[in-house]
Amino acid sequence: MRATRPGMPLVEREIEVLRLIAEGGSYAEVAAELQLAHASVKNYAHSAIKKLGARSQAHAVHLAHLAGILRRERHGDHAGFTAHVRRGEDPWACTQGCPEGERAYRAERRQQRREAA
Ligand SMILES: [Zn+2]
Repeated sequence: MRATRPGMPLVEREIEVLRLIAEGGSYAEVAAELQLAHASVKNYAHSAIKKLGARSQAHAVHLAHLAGILRRERHGDHAGFTAHVRRGEDPWACTQGCPEGERAYRAERRQQRREAA
């Protein structure tokens, strides 16, 4: 098994556990929410702390926020579309509704301009 080291990317489960901890959840509550064993939640939290190079759970939450890891991604509307652009991604390639949301937004803007003219 590969050793967990600072700087390694967090896996989805570690991020989920960290997000629920950041929202105030205890290990028991996180375990219930994610339908995981208490020991698994503890392992995910500890590996997340290690990967972030944090000294505690609170420090890990702080570092994860700074790194944008706990940011909730928005999709399906103009805000979600522009968020892709800010992240350096192609918003038209999104499969979670951003292109459709943007087309609807642009159509609405065109309609507003026509009505204003
Ligand atoms: Zn999107």
